Parts: sequence; C-alpha cells; structure tokens
Amino acid sequence: MPTTRTPIIAGNWKMNSGIKEGIQRCQEIVKHLPETQAEVVVCPPFPHLYPLSEVLKNTNVMLGAQTVHKKASGAYTGDVGAFMVVEAGARWVIIGHSERRQYYGETGADIREKILLAQNNGLTVIFCVGERLEERESNVYLDVITRQMNEVLDPSINFDQLVIAYEPVWSIGTGKTASPEQANEVHMHIRQCINNINGDKTTGEKIRVIYGGSMKPENAAELLAQSDIDGGLIGGASLDAKDFCRIISHAN
Ligand code: PEP
Repeated sequence: MPTTRTPIIAGNWKMNSGIKEGIQRCQEIVKHLPETQAEVVVCPPFPHLYPLSEVLKNTNVMLGAQTVHKKASGAYTGDVGAFMVVEAGARWVIIGHSERRQYYGETGADIREKILLAQNNGLTVIFCVGERLEERESNVYLDVITRQMNEVLDPSINFDQLVIAYEPVWSIGTGKTASPEQANEVHMHIRQCINNINGDKTTGEKIRVIYGGSMKPENAAELLAQSDIDGGLIGGASLDAKDFCRIISHAN
C-alpha cells in the first residue's frame, strides 16, 4: 500500500468478555504492542468503553464502539447514542456489520443515517460491506458491493472520517479466509466505487480499505502485503491480546 495510507488494525470483540477481562486484555495489548505505524483500535461492548478509556489513556490504542443508534437521542429503550460513546471515550465506530444487518435488519438507509450522525459527533466510521456465500458463488459479488456502497454513500459523507471494511460474510467467524487475491480484487473495486460516488479520481486512492474475515496471525502477513489492503478488522483473534499484537506486527 502507498505510505500515504496509514494502516489500521481494529479488534471487534462483539458480545464477549466481562469488564475485568476486557481491562486485563487491554493491559496486555499495551504491554505487547509492537512498534508500528498502524492505528490500533479496540471495539469492546458498550459497558467496557469508559473503564477501558482510563486504561488506554496516553497509549497508542484507541477505542471504538460496535454500533450506535441512528437517532441522536430519545425514546429508544436499550439503545446507545453516538454522543454517549464519544463521552465514554470512543473515537471510532463500526457501522453496518453483517451481524447488525442480519440480526437487527439494518438497511442501507439505517446505515447511512448512522454514519452521518456518527461523523457529526466526530467519530471515524468503519463501514462494513461484504457479499454472502451464494452471491460469491453466483459471481455477483462485485455488484453486491457496488449496491451496498451506492445505497449508503454520496458526496455529503465525510470521506476523511471513513474507512471501508470488506468483510465477506462467508469468511466471518468461519475460519474460511478470502485469498489475498480475492480480497485485493474487491478492495480495488471499492476504490473505484468511491471515485464514482464522489465524482473524482483521488478519494478512492486515499481512503483506507481494510479486510475482515478470519484474519489471524498465520494469514495476516500475506493479506496485509496486498497493494490495496490497508489493515484488518479482526473478530475472534482480537480476543487474544498476543494474537492481536502479532497481527499488528504485520501491518507496517
Ligand atoms: C468480524 O466479525 O468483524 C470478523 C472479522 O470476525 P472474525 O475475525 O472472527 O472472522
């Protein structure tokens, strides 16, 4: 990747770990953090954010939330607003993860509202796209990615506060990783989509596109060496501080 695109390694803890375990994991990450140019982000469950913000103060590890509600505040029992995660210490947020689309019925319109609100609150957004297995097998995966991008993004989005995560649904938590070539092809396509959406030829080259789907220490080097892969969104392997740090060590 060009040196102008700073790598990012983000851990998505999903709904795992109690707060004590989260604190210990973050202390271990800080202890084993390799020398790196990469931006490192940890996205724990909501209740961890504030305590972890204390642990990660004055370190090179940043905090992110795993989603936020699409409205600023109000009568939405059980939900959490963007300004709240900012107050709790988050600077990043994952939006449009396939699990949110699948289990909570999040649509492109919902995802767009969330991204705009999150950016207005100063959060940098990791926007997830990715095809399902049958879409890969029937060879329509690039069309799926184009649709997911077009229904959410337009020039009113702040592309400086946006990272795209390509996460083929068939590779999430399955142990099946996209090959480096398969991932790189989609990453290049994502850059082209961004240029078409923003009407210029430079935004796609500048934006960071990271890969997610069963990335682990054993396959990270090969994936991260691809020209258009700027980092990783890591689920399972981010729950082990040493594995997470080994992945980070491949991201320069
Ligand atoms: C994810 O859910 O964002 C993810 C990439 O998970 P895993 O690494 O476990 O496949």
